[in-house]
Amino acid sequence: MKAPKELPSALEKIEDFKQAFESKKPLIFLDFDGTLSPIVENHEDAEISTEMKQTVEELAEMYQVAIISGRGLDDVKKKAGIQNIFYAGSHGYEISGPGNFHEENDEAQEVLPAFDDLEPKLKSELKDIKGVRFERKKFTLAVHFRQVEKEKESEFFKIVKQCVEDFPRLKMGEGKKVVEIKPNIDWHKGKAVGFLMEKVSKDVGEMFPLFIGDDLTDEDAFHEMVNGIGVLVGDHGKKSYANYSLGSVEEVEKFLRQLIQLKNG
Ligand SMILES: [Mg+2]
Repeated sequence: MKAPKELPSALEKIEDFKQAFESKKPLIFLDFDGTLSPIVENHEDAEISTEMKQTVEELAEMYQVAIISGRGLDDVKKKAGIQNIFYAGSHGYEISGPGNFHEENDEAQEVLPAFDDLEPKLKSELKDIKGVRFERKKFTLAVHFRQVEKEKESEFFKIVKQCVEDFPRLKMGEGKKVVEIKPNIDWHKGKAVGFLMEKVSKDVGEMFPLFIGDDLTDEDAFHEMVNGIGVLVGDHGKKSYANYSLGSVEEVEKFLRQLIQLKNG
């Protein structure tokens, strides 16, 4: 593992990708927030730029592409608005793709009623902390604290932890200024990557995974991909399993353009 700033820039190492793609067809996994769209104050306001959208569409004409996100499946599909690619929502609990492909994690489905009990409890316990925002997705409950005062953050964490402890079938995960409450099962973005790899490989033969993401939750995917490449966007402040880095969403677009160029000659 390396500190993000020690990772070589993917933009300067495009030859490595060219080589990797020569032996096997790539399957390109793209995280959404912070990778394809800039991080914004309110997660509802996140938007993919017209240029980025076009770039990903062109990319998808040449390679298999999957957008994988902590957002709910319908939400990320709508935000990205790109047709004929794979989408994995809620960190991969729900996956859809071309040809009416749809898959949900059965085990996670059984846990859903626990969220209905937890959510009102959490809302009432946190009512005195200003700036907390809830985002209920099908398979996770995100509690955003980007707008919570710094001095209130430890109290916020304490309350959330206490509430979640009463629900053994749920667990807490951390992201950028968000606590993500998920089913307490062995599933994460890395597993979703493995699942999709298997699914797509069945049709087109063995593939080479490339994963681009910015958040701590993406580390599960970087870690899982023993025979692939991980590219970290920006710096999440911890050591990373990624192999390369990109500085920003703008650099992601530049890099995807380079991948398109590879194919064009
Ligand atoms: Mg992200």
